[in-house]
Amino acid sequence: MIGIDIDGVLADSDPSFRAHLQKIYQRPFLRKDVVYFDYQKCFGLSLVQIEDFWQTFSAQGKWEKIKVIPGALSVLKHFNKKDIILITARPDYLKKETLSWLKMNKIPYSRLLFMAGESKHHDVLAHKLKFDYFIEDRFEYSRDLADLGIKVLLLNYPWNKKFGEYPGITRVNSWKDIGKIILK
Ligand SMILES: [Mg+2]
Repeated sequence: MIGIDIDGVLADSDPSFRAHLQKIYQRPFLRKDVVYFDYQKCFGLSLVQIEDFWQTFSAQGKWEKIKVIPGALSVLKHFNKKDIILITARPDYLKKETLSWLKMNKIPYSRLLFMAGESKHHDVLAHKLKFDYFIEDRFEYSRDLADLGIKVLLLNYPWNKKFGEYPGITRVNSWKDIGKIILK
């Protein structure tokens, strides 16, 4: 059984977020500057600006327009969908958009969990999930999952680079790398 995150793992969300920031604030927003999970902090935005950004991103239906990360579907098709569980840190109010995105993009999965606490290991324990692998892009969640003995594959991004290596976490660059590990 594998656990998979959505944003940054299945959904190529960061380019969509930055394109929308660029559109509303008319200046460049570069990936290399996304060194935290918090776009407000990365780009020095005010609270009003970041709230306006998320509000208009949702209002303009942009959650549904996010692209799938290349290579994800060709790896997932090797699994029975009952063995795929998604755990996202998205807020509950994005449930409708998230479900429709998963359906539109034909992502196979059996369960979708919205993270209940401040990290994903709580969900694993609460639902007694026996993951062989978890695929994630946020270091903090990866570390907490790895501490439970789950083999974590962490996709490299500017926002997790500074944390370096950790026992139980394997860094990968793409779904091609992920496929080589989980399909062997
Ligand atoms: Mg993510």
